[in-house]
Amino acid sequence: LMHLTRKLIEIRTMLLSIDQSDALKLPSIVVIGSQSSGKSSVLEAIVGHEFLPKGNNMVTRRPIELTLIHTPSTGGREPEEYGEFPALGLGKISDFSQIQKTLTDLNLAVPASEAVSNEPIDLRIYSPRVPDLTLIDLPGYIQIASLDQPETLKEKIAGLCEKYIREPNIILAVCAADVDLANSPALRASRKVDPLGLRTIGVITKMDLVPPDQGATILTGNRYPLHLGYVGVVSKVSGKKARRENTTDVVLRGESDFFGAHREHFGSSSSVMTGTDTLRKRLMEVLESSMASSLHGITNAVQLELEETQYQFKVQYNDRRITAESYVAETVDALKGRFKEFTSQFRKPQIRTKLKEMLDEKVMDVLETLYWSDKRSAELAALAADPKVKPEDVESYWRYKLDAASSLLTKSGVGRDSTLLVADGLRSLIDSIAAGEPFTHHPRAAERLIEFSHMILRDRIGVTSDQVENCIKPYKYEVEVDEREWEVGRTQAVQLFEKEVGHCEEKLKELRKRAGGSRRLNGLIGYVKELEVKEKERSQKRLALPSEDSEATSDDSKDLVDDYRYPPAQILDARHAMLYSDRIAILKLRLAALKSKRCRSGPESDLFCPEAFLNVVADKLAYTSTMFINIELLDQFFYQFPREIDSRLLYDLDRREIVEFARENPVVRRHLDLQERKDKLEEVMKQLNSLAMLRPEAAQTAPRR
Ligand code: GDP
Repeated sequence: LMHLTRKLIEIRTMLLSIDQSDALKLPSIVVIGSQSSGKSSVLEAIVGHEFLPKGNNMVTRRPIELTLIHTPSTGGREPEEYGEFPALGLGKISDFSQIQKTLTDLNLAVPASEAVSNEPIDLRIYSPRVPDLTLIDLPGYIQIASLDQPETLKEKIAGLCEKYIREPNIILAVCAADVDLANSPALRASRKVDPLGLRTIGVITKMDLVPPDQGATILTGNRYPLHLGYVGVVSKVSGKKARRENTTDVVLRGESDFFGAHREHFGSSSSVMTGTDTLRKRLMEVLESSMASSLHGITNAVQLELEETQYQFKVQYNDRRITAESYVAETVDALKGRFKEFTSQFRKPQIRTKLKEMLDEKVMDVLETLYWSDKRSAELAALAADPKVKPEDVESYWRYKLDAASSLLTKSGVGRDSTLLVADGLRSLIDSIAAGEPFTHHPRAAERLIEFSHMILRDRIGVTSDQVENCIKPYKYEVEVDEREWEVGRTQAVQLFEKEVGHCEEKLKELRKRAGGSRRLNGLIGYVKELEVKEKERSQKRLALPSEDSEATSDDSKDLVDDYRYPPAQILDARHAMLYSDRIAILKLRLAALKSKRCRSGPESDLFCPEAFLNVVADKLAYTSTMFINIELLDQFFYQFPREIDSRLLYDLDRREIVEFARENPVVRRHLDLQERKDKLEEVMKQLNSLAMLRPEAAQTAPRR
């Protein structure tokens, strides 16, 4: 028979971990009583150890779910006694004073402002000296809250007890013999939910404090009858003896001495139950029969719950099972896959194009500062247009100019700029991966991903930019250009200029639209030019006549008024329009030159066609930079990154961290939860069915699967 209780206690523990709804609950014994009624002493006598928190300040602040597991001796050897807090992962604790300390800490951790908490502490005790039982110890009822306790404490405790003494639980109502039963809050609370006392056992403590005949009368239960009866106990420790021996042994001996000494009152009548041993047996019987009668109902409830869960699992997940480990592995694979996919953007041709674009801009800047702003550039154009002029005939001024342009380009920090450009690309690639699914659910992993990829980049940037700079060094002194390269450079310059012309025209169009048509824009431009001419005249006049002149002053003020004919924003637009038109004019002139016979003739015309020459230089720089960035930065990064994922991202996690990681993703968490619920219910159902097999009369009532 004990087998049943034990099994059902296991099942009860499993069901508690599935959910807290009343439908799936197997009975437990709930211990209630007022403060100092001797509740703790009774529980400790049952367990045979002192393990509950002691102190004047209310010490039980959370319910204690106490599961006692009987461990039979094997081959004459007594198994070790120990306790366990499954939720804390502290392992086996064989020192019961350590259990007491842990319980005290857990209770004191409840903030004083709350005073009691609904969250139970799960404690299991394994011992050959305990029966298989589940007991729930609740905070003792109080009469009035002391000064440092919240006003509502009394109600809070009563509410908590009320929640636990509901069906199907068994109520162990602890009352002290020296207090009138009419004043027992435990009996009062139990009568509310169990008026006939069908599931209430009375425990009368401190039997030694009242005359034996009075005690015996209480135990007969005539005044407040309980179907399950009263048990009288003495669980007081006498201080002197306790210090010498195991306290609870002393208690039990004292108890049997006491009842033995008053045999005339307690010995004969079978309706009077006394002693902790009797209480223990009584509790076992009551729990056993209560469990047995719950078996049928719980089996049905679990069956229903299981069917619903199986259905949900089928519908929502098509019966697909996952594990936290498989999720981690998939995440890592997907990450590597995404990374690989993205790296196709970092092949040599793409890098070369990117670098060339950056260098094209530099070329434009160089041309602008050295050539287009030079008033003599028209002279060069004239020379170029004259077929009789040979390169040797051209002034060395232009030779110096071309050399300067080439150096400006090669010495502009190409190594650093090109390396940073590519590194920035990699960085934003990783950032975008880290900002996407599923890393939105895993902020810590995303952070780590960014951290180590940046670290690899930081490590490589210095080396790479030095290496690139070193390799382009020769171009700083001389750039040799062959026919084919020249032609490529020339065509690219043509394309670049055409693109730039297109871009400027686009801008002009926008400005025209904003001004309200080309006539209005031209009007604006005319006005601005007029202003410029006036401005020039005025400054010349000022140079000629430095002294104050009344006529000039009045003239100035007239102009000032004139200045406000158009709003400043429009004046600014007109100035931009002028810049764009000038640029278009120059670009078109140079385009004509680039397409001329002179420029087509080959590299010896470099003096006349600096654009083509600089393009060749930019091409060579882009090519060389790409080659070394590829070796020093990209290859290294692509090699190291997946390895860092393996060694740093998730592989150093232990089992608990893996589960934690997987559960950060709400989709995975729901999947795991439902799957776990289904597994547990299946296991519970299996166990319930095996119990039904053990008990033929239950087998008939248990539903078949
Ligand atoms: P709780 O507050 O209900 O847990 O009560 P305790 O178990 O801490 O007991 C309160 C006080 O009553 C303690 O001082 C105990 O030593 C004492 N006490 C408990 N049981 C007995 C008993 O059977 N006889 C006597 N004389 N005192 C007891």
